[in-house]
Amino acid sequence: MTEVQQTTRDYKIPDGCPICSADLPVRVTASGPSAVCKHCGWFGRPVITVTHQGLRVSYEGGLAQA
Ligand SMILES: [Zn+2]
Repeated sequence: MTEVQQTTRDYKIPDGCPICSADLPVRVTASGPSAVCKHCGWFGRPVITVTHQGLRVSYEGGLAQA
């Protein structure tokens, strides 16, 4: 039995902001993840991948990963 997930999930990525390295709140909705840094106002659409090491976050738009 499958259910369509319509709930919104919130995560916080430690040091996740590519601009100021603040904790980055990420909201995952049916349309995909979006993140807004409360510290510097940066926003973007992170790509969250689950690995054995935990959540891995990358960003679309050609930003170099630190
Ligand atoms: Zn920031």
